[in-house]
Amino acid sequence: MTTDSLQTFTADDLIQRPGVFAESDPPVRLAVFGDPVAHSRSPGFQNAALRACGIPAAYARVLVPAGQAIAAFRALPAAGFLGTNVTIPHKAAALEAVDEADDYARRSGSVNTVVVEGDRLVGFNTDGPGLVRAIREEFQVDLRDLRVVLLGAGGGAGRAIAVQCAMEGCERLVLANRTPEKTKPLIKDLAGFFRTDRLVGPADRLLAVPLEGPLLQEQLNHADLVINATSLGMRRTDPPVLPASWITPNLMVYDTVYAGGNSRLLEDAAAAGARTANGLSMLLHQGALSFEIWFNRPAPLEVMRASLQST
Ligand code: NAP
Repeated sequence: MTTDSLQTFTADDLIQRPGVFAESDPPVRLAVFGDPVAHSRSPGFQNAALRACGIPAAYARVLVPAGQAIAAFRALPAAGFLGTNVTIPHKAAALEAVDEADDYARRSGSVNTVVVEGDRLVGFNTDGPGLVRAIREEFQVDLRDLRVVLLGAGGGAGRAIAVQCAMEGCERLVLANRTPEKTKPLIKDLAGFFRTDRLVGPADRLLAVPLEGPLLQEQLNHADLVINATSLGMRRTDPPVLPASWITPNLMVYDTVYAGGNSRLLEDAAAAGARTANGLSMLLHQGALSFEIWFNRPAPLEVMRASLQST
């Protein structure tokens, strides 16, 4: 069996048949947990990285239904795993399942990278740091220097990105979400990061606005970077997350969505003359950071990029 054609394993395999992971050659010692998980592109580029580094381990998919998430994480040591990545909908459960998590993962309320250390599980989240690297690569700027409008700030990815922006000390952060109540706790949690003497004019450095209407349009006039962290754009039939006429040429627009090429948002932004990038670069860098955490060595980034671009 080649590592790229590995079957999708299940939570039951982990919990009831932990020996099956050692039966492949090389043995499965890493995986992505999700539901659904078939769409995940992580096995392709992580296996390419493992092969390039001569590491005798394979990376598989594990389909984990919601009710089995905690048990599946706790079964990792007995099944001989080094760690996992975590995707929708298990990032919050992963934080619950680990014995320890770093500061950023705890603040984000989610873990996307688990490391097995003996019988213990340690959690990290590489989504925010991956986005920082992606923004630097795509736009040659640092997140900390930017005024950011974050669309979908109340979702899992949105919260992780908001926390990263705050920890980076970005110039301004505007949180927009369809359900505004979800940004209230975030404003409270992040306020301390924005209480500084930094002079940025009369505007609040941290605020929440609805995901529609004149308040959001006004904030776009005072922004450098717009990040879409809503799930809008994953399907071609999705409505646009912003009216095309609101997008101005001075903006950088980053869409965390990468399924199916460029989204309507990115097409509208490019037509308006704005600089654009889709979430593939964030996917690449969050994966490279996970690899670095598991193996304590630099990831073969160009191998991973080439693999991602070829699938
Ligand atoms: P999530 O927790 O389910 O959050 C979804 C977000 O989208 C929420 O803010 C939700 O608003 C908003 N939303 C959903 N439907 C909407 C609609 N019809 N109109 C307006 N807003 C809507 O999902 P997630 O895990 O944060 O993922 C969000 C996106 O990030 C996905 O597209 C995912 O692919 C992407 N992502 C990309 C990467 C990467 O590496 N590139 C990594 C992680 C995530 P409410 O709060 O109002 O429901």
